[in-house]
Amino acid sequence: MLGAPPPLEFVPPPVMDDVTGLPLILCPSCKDLRLVAFICKWTENCGKRFFKCPRYDELGAKRCRIYMFQDKYEWYLRTNGYLEFAETELAMDGGLEAMDVVPDLVMEEIEQVKGGLHDIQDELAKIKLELVELKNEGRKKKCACAVLFVLLLVVWVALK
Ligand SMILES: [Zn+2]
Repeated sequence: MLGAPPPLEFVPPPVMDDVTGLPLILCPSCKDLRLVAFICKWTENCGKRFFKCPRYDELGAKRCRIYMFQDKYEWYLRTNGYLEFAETELAMDGGLEAMDVVPDLVMEEIEQVKGGLHDIQDELAKIKLELVELKNEGRKKKCACAVLFVLLLVVWVALK
């Protein structure tokens, strides 16, 4: 027997601001009206996107003071957990940007380390060569010593 489907909670679909792609949330103060977004056209903030409660322009006790410019609104969304979806997008964008920038730096460092390793390898190769030469010289000396010893022995035996 199939159980009754769980009651669907009504979650209003997020309304996005076309210009910034930021979700237009319910006014944090009124909690029943969605914020609206505009572009400032008449102050020193001309051209800046801002978000406000539709009741911002009302007069008297009904007036709501929620009014934020884009940077502050974004910060508000982020700190209040509204920006999860948009954040992944932002993170992806940021990630891609970082991908373009970081590997160059990392590659440079890797090249530097590689260069350093090459130097060390060269040094090691030189030391190895020197060691081999020293060994050979040592062998030659030993050989010479042995030959000299045998000669001395022969001379000593001959003189006896
Ligand atoms: Zn409001």
